[in-house]
Amino acid sequence: MAKKIVAGNWKMNKDLNAAVALVEDLKSKIGEYDTSGVSLIVSPPYLYLSEILKTAQGSGIEVSAQNVHQEASGAYTGEVSVEMLKSIGLEYTIIGHSERRQYFGETSTQINSKVVASINGNLNPIYCCGEVKEEREAGDHFKVVEQQLNEEVFTLSAEDFSKVVIAYEPVWAIGTGLTASPEQAQEIHAFIRGLVAAKYGAAIAADTSILYGGSCKPGNAKEIFSNKDVDGGLIGGAALLADDFLKIAAAFN
Ligand code: PEP
Repeated sequence: MAKKIVAGNWKMNKDLNAAVALVEDLKSKIGEYDTSGVSLIVSPPYLYLSEILKTAQGSGIEVSAQNVHQEASGAYTGEVSVEMLKSIGLEYTIIGHSERRQYFGETSTQINSKVVASINGNLNPIYCCGEVKEEREAGDHFKVVEQQLNEEVFTLSAEDFSKVVIAYEPVWAIGTGLTASPEQAQEIHAFIRGLVAAKYGAAIAADTSILYGGSCKPGNAKEIFSNKDVDGGLIGGAALLADDFLKIAAAFN
């Protein structure tokens, strides 16, 4: 069975004190919500990863990077490698977020290299895919997502693929207040699971966590998560407030 995951992508928000305070807040409030059976992950900026790991220690809250570079080391100014993230004790990184694709020109080839580097270094990728507004309006969303999966993750062996968490994030819903309807989410999540089953078999497909991302809030999480093929959420804006993030995680129960 796929693990239930609610992961918060903090993006480029919060200074060190505010980032630590948010984890302290999550720790002190977690008992107020029923988040049982749900893995919680926070993804702060690189700069505070070590500090956040220390703050989160023993709380059950896991920590992820927001990105990683595909090369092991060398002259790549401003970049951070898998080995560096592993050396501070990290287990996850987001890869292929639409903002990386859109603002930093990340290509499918690069995203595939990042996924492969991450797997080779025992860092679990939270791999993002999803269509832009024009593609959805043209009815091309299935085709777009299938192509992303084929080029970016389906090059992995079955054993390696089983370490990947997929986040389906329709780009038109990220930070816009627009959300995929529960039917739209279920339809494309089921399609993704079907592609995984065709490539790797039914058992791996059933165990693959497929998260939804795009303006997921406390008010809509329950209806999105109630769909059979939605195993959790990748949360942006609402992950910056402890109560909202925990309410979203508790929407599973
Ligand atoms: C995201 O950036 O992954 C995201 C889902 O953002 P938001 O929840 O703010 O739409």
